[in-house]
Amino acid sequence: MKIHNFSAGPSILPKDVIDKASGAVKELDNSGLSLIEISHRSKAFISIMEEACELALKHTNLNNKGYKALFLQGGASQQFLMCAYNLLDNKAGYVNTGTWSTKAIKEAKLFGDVIEIASSKENNFNYIPKGYDIPSDLDYLHLTTNNTIFGTQYKEIPKTTVPLVADMSSDIFSRKFDYSKFDLFYAGAQKNMGPAGTTLVIIKEALLGKVSRRIPSILDYTVQIKGGSMFNTPPVFAVYTSLLTLRWIEEKGGIEVIGEKNSLKANRLYNEVDRNPMFKGFASEESRSQMNVTFNLVDAELTDTFDAMCNDNGISGLKGHRSVGGYRASIYNALSIESVEKLINCMQLLEQKK
Ligand SMILES: *Cc1c(COP(=O)(O)O)cnc(C)c1O
Repeated sequence: MKIHNFSAGPSILPKDVIDKASGAVKELDNSGLSLIEISHRSKAFISIMEEACELALKHTNLNNKGYKALFLQGGASQQFLMCAYNLLDNKAGYVNTGTWSTKAIKEAKLFGDVIEIASSKENNFNYIPKGYDIPSDLDYLHLTTNNTIFGTQYKEIPKTTVPLVADMSSDIFSRKFDYSKFDLFYAGAQKNMGPAGTTLVIIKEALLGKVSRRIPSILDYTVQIKGGSMFNTPPVFAVYTSLLTLRWIEEKGGIEVIGEKNSLKANRLYNEVDRNPMFKGFASEESRSQMNVTFNLVDAELTDTFDAMCNDNGISGLKGHRSVGGYRASIYNALSIESVEKLINCMQLLEQKK
């Protein structure tokens, strides 16, 4: 039976990427050697790293605009502290839109004043706040563009003159977007790009070198840029697999084409959530995420019945996060429209059975 993988992360990757990545573990490009047994200083690996950085900048349309791409370790969680370590001298602003923003705020507070500019906590983070004032003296404003757990996503980026920093772990490369609005953004690979173990950071170089504190080498963006993401041994498998996904995006026609397909998938699923009387959506309509669709059963007593139906139909990874309950369909780039149709079928089956 075909399994339809709706997992929130680690999550579905294109089959072609999995095939090529596993092939490279056996032998990299007819070299007689495995990807995971060659030196990261070899020509072969340096060219993998360079192409991955180049494609990441190309897909975000930031080539030759003063930005650098890095593939680091420590997950998106390490970026919570690293961006503050490198950029927060005096005062930073954070918009709190969920669990991940809350964690980012906690880490940043170790380095300076942190102002919570806006929050949707009072409504269990079911919307993206709007219409708040942004002080002009912030070192930066931090946003979480897609909230993986609650299923909300920014449609418009707030206008401000202060540098913008964003956690894009769960919506990087998912839609056409003006990435140049951001001075720094980061994404753990395991949502929409590759296996866990590497984090893409894209940063405007002009932003660096402004804080007065001393920064440990491995956490210093300037050092990482100088070392070409190889201050120490990089996670070669995670970087290579990410490169394969970046090439796959290219083959599919780039993120504009992928974004259109993602909109179609999300619209179909939200239409069913709204139409089907057995279900109700969690996120407020204007903040709905195109990557993580959160919904609940109207009658929670049907949980076991619906779970069994999903199971029988090969639907995997649909369980919602404990802070929301219910269901979360993560419909990342690699998930096909057929998988979305399968889920919709299941939802309709439940309705018919009632
Ligand atoms: C998953 C996730 C994280 C945490 O990523 P790690 O790589 O596990 O540290 C942070 N932010 C968002 C938006 C996420 O979806």
